[in-house]
Amino acid sequence: MEKPCPFCAIVADSSSREIVAANDSAVAFRDAFPVSRGHTLVVPRVHAALLSELSKEQSRDLFDLVYDLCAGELYAPPARTIGVNDGPLAGQTVAHVHVHLIPRRLGDVADPRGGVRWVLPEQADYWSARP
Ligand code: 5GP
Ligand code: ZN
Repeated sequence: MEKPCPFCAIVADSSSREIVAANDSAVAFRDAFPVSRGHTLVVPRVHAALLSELSKEQSRDLFDLVYDLCAGELYAPPARTIGVNDGPLAGQTVAHVHVHLIPRRLGDVADPRGGVRWVLPEQADYWSARP
């Protein structure tokens, strides 16, 4: 039997204390296993595994909410890593589309250059080889 989707459970409970923001077709809540303080996930209300399975409107609402969170946070972090693991081969472990908003702060890693490029470590560093 398939495991129930944890994100559908959060979306279904509109009174959930986990929810930090929402619009017509998207919901934001804190990650249960945060990579950094304030790590937030933004998900569509509909269950879909991949971004391309959403309608344009659902996708717009999803990224509208990402924007609203970034623009509206009272104590905004100095930087964020924003990303989607869009499919299991890209590292997706929960099969319900979600955008990660990961607050980044000074000194959280020794050298933050490249950020998401490090998903493929061999290719990440392009700046050292530059003349
Ligand atoms: P993925 O690996 O699919 O890109 O990310 C899945 C994310 O969902 C992980 O960051 C993980 O910590 C988070 N997560 C997994 N299960 C739950 C849950 O039940 N509730 C919440 N709020 N986050 C979860
Ligand atoms: Zn789901």
